[in-house]
Amino acid sequence: MNDVIIIGGSFAGLAAALQLGRARREVTVLDTGLPRNRFAGHSHGLLGHDHKPPLQILAEARQQLARYPSIRLVNARAESICGTIDDFSVLIGGESLRARRLILSYGVADQMPAVQGFAESWGSSIVPCPYCDGFEVAGQHWGLVWSGPQSHNHVRLYHDWTDTLTVFADGHEIAPDIRADLARRHIPVVEGRIIEIGRHGSRHATVKLDSGPDVAVDILFAHPRNKPSASLHESVGLATVNTPQGIAIKVDERRETSTPGIYAAGDLANPLMASVTLATSHGATAGIFAQQSMLV
Ligand SMILES: Cc1cc2nc3c(=O)[nH]c(=O)nc-3n(C[C@H](O)[C@H](O)[C@H](O)COP(=O)(O)OP(=O)(O)OC[C@H]3O[C@@H](n4cnc5c(N)ncnc54)[C@H](O)[C@@H]3O)c2cc1C
Repeated sequence: MNDVIIIGGSFAGLAAALQLGRARREVTVLDTGLPRNRFAGHSHGLLGHDHKPPLQILAEARQQLARYPSIRLVNARAESICGTIDDFSVLIGGESLRARRLILSYGVADQMPAVQGFAESWGSSIVPCPYCDGFEVAGQHWGLVWSGPQSHNHVRLYHDWTDTLTVFADGHEIAPDIRADLARRHIPVVEGRIIEIGRHGSRHATVKLDSGPDVAVDILFAHPRNKPSASLHESVGLATVNTPQGIAIKVDERRETSTPGIYAAGDLANPLMASVTLATSHGATAGIFAQQSMLV
């Protein structure tokens, strides 16, 4: 019997494992090796690891975990979970593993829109987060694909990086008061639906529309909808909260879910923002409080 099985061994899951391994708890980490930022050349904003390839950060973390004899890293997909506190089962490839606690850290998957060139540009000329990629393109011409009223907050945010922003309505209604605010900020709104993202000359992204001329920008920010990378939380009926882009598993301040003994961390359980720093922090929190919940 494991003390804890961690499902998803990326930033959140490995951070949880580190705390549990240092507390000499028996931990199995299951992972399929598809972290959300695998499309990005570099990861930014994680103290001590700024501007490193994300897969390098994870490889270094796995290497460091090898010091801890009670941590087992397994390259496998968790297929199902069941049970209750002190007796959970996780199915992998026909084998059933048991654990007293579970930590779910299997992340979310971004749903690429059916726009030619979008998926190919994701992580390079199309990115979601200014904290991750804004510094490198500060002062340049940014584009924002409107995805709803929350996009207005992005407009306000981006001023810290650039004064040259173009909004692409992409078929969304933008309320008159928001349009007035965009006009006050001298931000043009390009109407029409985006049908293709291409590259042209020195510009990084050329946005092709179903009406009107192409528009070139240096970088395009977009927030496609996402969904959890697995549905294991549904099978045990965990409570969730809605986010503008999808859903997140509901957790308390110790990262425990609505089911006692099941913890969740990382993007899967963070409705506020996706970040490696927050994922590792929440993963460590889940690991520590899962361990403390087993004290005699
Ligand atoms: C293009 C892009 C660029 C980004 N750049 C940055 C950046 O510069 N800085 C920053 O702080 N953040 C960045 N982010 C956000 C960052 O990627 C996430 O916040 C972070 O990866 C979340 O970590 P996580 O551990 O929660 O999930 P993930 O890193 O997504 O890892 C989830 C893991 O679970 C595994 N898994 C899924 N299902 C199963 C299953 N059933 N069984 C076993 N394993 C499973 C997956 O294979 C994966 O390894 C970026 C995101 C994107 C999309």
